[in-house]
Formats: sequence, C-alpha cells, structure tokens
Amino acid sequence: MAADIFCQIIAGTLDTEVVWRDETVVAFLDHRPVFKGHVLVCPARHVESLLDLPGELMQPLLATAQRVARAMGPALGADGSFVAMNNVVSQSVPHLHVHVVPRSKGDGLRGFFWPRTRYAAGEEADYAARLRVALDTP
Ligand code: AMP
Repeated sequence: MAADIFCQIIAGTLDTEVVWRDETVVAFLDHRPVFKGHVLVCPARHVESLLDLPGELMQPLLATAQRVARAMGPALGADGSFVAMNNVVSQSVPHLHVHVVPRSKGDGLRGFFWPRTRYAAGEEADYAARLRVALDTP
C-alpha cells in the first residue's frame, strides 16, 4: 500500500516546510493554511487517528502542539491559536495531525461552523448516562 502523504513528508520524499522534527513528532506548515503559519503536528510513525494513538506518543504529540502554539506569539505576532484535529469524519489525510492555527483578535475567523442543538427534556441525562457506561465511569 502506498504511504499516505504525511508519511512521505515525514520520510522526506515530499517537500514541505518542516518546523520541528524529533524521533517521535514532526511538525510542518499546512500548504493551504487557514492563516499563514498554520502548522500540522503529526506522530512520526504512521498512526491513523486519535483512537489509534499509543499512550507513549500522547505526551510528545500534545507537548509539541503546545510548543508550536506558544511559538506563534513571538514568531508570528499571534494573540492565540486554534488547536484541533479531525478524526475519520472530515479527516482528509489518514495520518493523525493536530492543526495549530495562529489567531489574532479581529482576524475575521468567526469560528468553524458548529451549529448547536438543544437537548429535549431528560435527554441530556440519557446521553451522559450512555457515555458513563462506555467510559466505565465509577
Ligand atoms: P484534515 O482535513 O483535518 O485532514 O486536514 C488535512 C490538512 O492537510 C489540510 O488542511 C490540507 O491543507 C493539508 N495538506 C494536505 N496535503 C498537504 C501537503 N502536501 N503539505 C502540507 N499540507 C497538506
């Protein structure tokens, strides 16, 4: 099976602007940024989505996302950042990647389109109960 494009970037066979690389994590510029300086932070080894991420990679992945987010102030003059990942649905590259997008007050991004709904009476408790069962919440 052909390697996904992020495996190719990580292997160095596809050109991109890498901003961080160590044994476990690689971060590079998204080529179609929401705002310039938008970075994708990936596990160096092929991991498809958050559900497949081994425990030992969680800390390095999030720590790198935090470092990148922190760098956006001094490097880009950003006031903050938006940090997110798509898992399966809306995930266009099947290699886990954390988006770190620089944000500035008044940058015009009104948030991603997240239409909100409301719970019917009693429904909120039912949803919470179903999740507690799946999570084995004591
Ligand atoms: P998602 O839709 O959350 O899976 O995000 C995938 C991201 O990968 C998109 O924001 C794309 O712009 C970005 N992308 C796709 N191909 C490349 C590439 N060759 N180099 C850099 N970024 C890429």
